[in-house]
Amino acid sequence: MESAVENLREYFSSGITKQASWRKAQLQNLLTLLHEREGEIYTCLKKDLGKHHVEAFRDELGTLIKSTNYALQNLKGWMSSKTAKLPKLAVLASAELIPEPLGLVLIISTWNFPFGMSLEPLIGAIAAGNTMVLKPSELSPACSLFLAKVVPMYLDNKAIKVIEGGPEVGEKLLQQKWDKIFFTGSARVGRIVMSAAVKHLTPVTLELGGKCPAVVDSLKSSWDRWMGTNRIVVSKFGPCAGQACIAIDYVLVEEHFASTLVELMKGSIKEMFGENPRESNSISRIINKHHFLRLKNLLSDPAVKDSIVFGGSMDEDNLFIEPTILVDPPLDAAVMTEEIFGPVLPIITLKKIEESIGFINSRPKPLSIYAFTNNEALRRRMISETTSGSLIFNDAIIQYLADTLPFGGIGESGMGSYHGKFSFDTFSHYKAVARRSFLTEFWFRFPPWNNYKLLLFEVFYNIDYLGILLALLGLKKPRKISVVA
Ligand code: NAD
Repeated sequence: MESAVENLREYFSSGITKQASWRKAQLQNLLTLLHEREGEIYTCLKKDLGKHHVEAFRDELGTLIKSTNYALQNLKGWMSSKTAKLPKLAVLASAELIPEPLGLVLIISTWNFPFGMSLEPLIGAIAAGNTMVLKPSELSPACSLFLAKVVPMYLDNKAIKVIEGGPEVGEKLLQQKWDKIFFTGSARVGRIVMSAAVKHLTPVTLELGGKCPAVVDSLKSSWDRWMGTNRIVVSKFGPCAGQACIAIDYVLVEEHFASTLVELMKGSIKEMFGENPRESNSISRIINKHHFLRLKNLLSDPAVKDSIVFGGSMDEDNLFIEPTILVDPPLDAAVMTEEIFGPVLPIITLKKIEESIGFINSRPKPLSIYAFTNNEALRRRMISETTSGSLIFNDAIIQYLADTLPFGGIGESGMGSYHGKFSFDTFSHYKAVARRSFLTEFWFRFPPWNNYKLLLFEVFYNIDYLGILLALLGLKKPRKISVVA
């Protein structure tokens, strides 16, 4: 590992990865990989997660192709320096921001979207001109092995390495010196990453999870209710059977609307996954036995069991859990205190929907908040009174698809962001470069000091043109200042 890291560092020093032609070629090669290996990608996702190939295209392959194309289209603009204004005091000067790669970066990713979570940051790291190590998750072994085997066949092996392994390998990697660590995973391991980064003052981006609430107002028309419910159901049970960081974790609803919502959801689940979801190939399986038992355990609490109003059946041999709806499980039960990360949806009833703001604010800041409402006043309050990585009205998950929105959390749900230009920025350092001419100077910049020079600093810093003129003509007098020694 040490020698691999050393070689990557040396390769970065050669300057090859800084060249626009190198970045472009790698992105184009990544596109070729995604197109040529499409079938194998689906096979790996089916093997690890039982993911349907259409879901796999929607959430991983398709988004990666889109993101790579977007990076290719915008690379030139992103790489170009941006001019900046300097204070008037710096006469005859110019300045610019020059993006430069950070150097050698470490990307650690998760199993729920094994290609998306690995390659989406990789696109940004390549576009920014870095060398990198990618460590995929050991919990999606077919996808991890595929990445380790195929990435070197398409991408520059001297600059981009895939190192497979679990926590022990992750820990060894964290002991190396990096110029950036990009981590996707749990807050628990996020803390391990951050403490390892302290040693070399390495900047980190932490893409974490948590509980994403959906506030569901009593929508006005039956059309809005039907549309909203379908979007809630697909955003909870659709992406990897709820094993997604931005999946809806729980719903907040007014008491009188809860039973209507449950009935609408039942209909929507049946539409999407059939009368017997166990036979549906449109819903992913739980990643492994450990997570299956974790979810089973969440439902085994008698008070939680009593709150099940739909679903609840499980098949351990096939790692299947039926889409399950709970109404008002105890708020101190694990299902309401831990991230669920599976196809279990608690609905919490409130007297007034406005109480949802206090409910959300009394818990860690979410990665995303969703609010389904026709109420403009509630919308405005949600915007001004809650904090989260993203806030989406009347839909969910769509923020992941946007190249133009920063994707990332805040507080317990993470720090830093990526996607589109934000990915490029995450893996770049903007160097401030300023130039001056030797021709002329404002001599009041230099000692010895007097109060007239102080006046000149004041008018120049405030860009007070009249003040500058009057001061230079001697028509504006310096302030009297008393300095206590
Ligand atoms: P995890 O934290 O257990 O593991 C993530 C990665 O860290 C894996 O590659 C794993 O091998 C590695 N790892 C584990 N222990 C380590 C250690 N001690 N040192 C170094 N590396 C170590 O998370 P997970 O179970 O893979 O993923 C689930 C979590 O990820 C959920 O909380 C979910 O919300 C979050 N997530 C967030 C996003 C996002 O974009 N914000 C996306 C997907 C998942």
